Amino acid sequence: MPRPPALSPSRAGDFQQCPLMFRYRTVDRLPERPSPAATLGTLVHAVLERLYDLPARERTVDSAHARLEPQWREMVAKQPDLAELHADEAAEQAWLADGRQRLATYFELENPQRLEPAAREEFIELQLEDGPLLRGIIDRIDIAPDGSIRIVDYKTGKTPDPRYGAKKERFQMRFYALVIERIRQRRPALLQLLFLKDGGRLEIRPTGDDIAQVEHEIREIWNEITAAASAGRFRTRKSALCGWCSFQDRCPEFGGVEPPLDPDAVERAFGVRPVTA
Ligand code: SF4
Repeated sequence: MPRPPALSPSRAGDFQQCPLMFRYRTVDRLPERPSPAATLGTLVHAVLERLYDLPARERTVDSAHARLEPQWREMVAKQPDLAELHADEAAEQAWLADGRQRLATYFELENPQRLEPAAREEFIELQLEDGPLLRGIIDRIDIAPDGSIRIVDYKTGKTPDPRYGAKKERFQMRFYALVIERIRQRRPALLQLLFLKDGGRLEIRPTGDDIAQVEHEIREIWNEITAAASAGRFRTRKSALCGWCSFQDRCPEFGGVEPPLDPDAVERAFGVRPVTA
């Protein structure tokens, strides 16, 4: 059975950053080399998720640190190309030290001995009426004795510069709030982002207007995506972030050649067939 067209906060962010990059990730599904920063995020998330398997009194910073390197070896065993991530052992050890720093910062922000999450790494899905299937994975959901819901997301990077309003992060958390409100028939009381590089915290108490606004934004982004898909044209959007893009060799902005679009892949991804392909 074909999968319905779906949208996650990160894919929506990709499209807003650069439609061509979005195309390469979502339609062409081109492979990308894992980056040290993204892989550190995956590793620290895995350690924090498993930390809550332990009895409360054993959730200490030492036990989190002790789990970091074994968790890393487990990841490399499952995905052997990760072994190429570091130039040498010294670089790998420096990277693992960064991971230990992120975990230590986590313990400055929260006391996991006093928390019993209702869900960890929770996969969520919601079919938006006349829109895409919304999808995401929530790092942690806490439910208080009175039933109030808190959504928690860990970021291994630093707190975004307030001059730019943390737009991407706010969009992601309000996206989750919309999905959880519809699934559980209760609006989350608090959305909380923890930035483990510098110990920053961003909290949002979503209102009905926030939920309505994010639904409107999601529909607008989806309309732009399906318009691009129908036209068979995903434009470039050059920015400072191009430096981190894996697809410069196929990007016309950098002298690369854009390969033709596969109309079947477009239809599978968005439920529309490009007219010009
Ligand atoms: S290099 Fe920049 S413009 Fe080109 S695809 Fe990547 S993000 Fe888009």
